Amino acid sequence: MLYRIDISSESNANIPGSLPRQRVISVATLCPVGSSRHATVRTGETRPGEVDYRLARGARLTAFRTGRLSRMEVCDAQTELMRNANACGKATRRKCPVCEHRHLVDVTYVFGPRLPRSGRCITSTRELVTLAERVGKFEAYVVEVCTECRWNHLTRAYPLSAS
Ligand SMILES: [Zn+2]
Repeated sequence: MLYRIDISSESNANIPGSLPRQRVISVATLCPVGSSRHATVRTGETRPGEVDYRLARGARLTAFRTGRLSRMEVCDAQTELMRNANACGKATRRKCPVCEHRHLVDVTYVFGPRLPRSGRCITSTRELVTLAERVGKFEAYVVEVCTECRWNHLTRAYPLSAS
């Protein structure tokens, strides 16, 4: 899937497979520790403004399992996404829902001021925290990828903030 993410708009209608914005479900959240200059990343909490794409993911998988989408259509990670998944994807315990051979990796892209138009692929938690401390509006998008069959799907998006 080719993601075209436009953070200049509140609408996410241009993201293939996206549903109306929903609150909740979070895996990672940023929170201040001591002061805004020392932000950190915490897991397992809900963060305001987070958008969860699990329903869209489920709909895509249902379409695949019922034959409305082919394997080529759902396992279509672009070369750059595969490269990023292999180089800086974060391992998960979630098995690939398509091939069921590999565990998925999460690839995080951040969009915002002075970052490439295609976003910056995050390589570490520290990098995420550093971006959160910058002035400006930054948004993180997490894509799950199977490095074996090329399944990929946007799983969540959230605003980065040190406060
Ligand atoms: Zn797979």
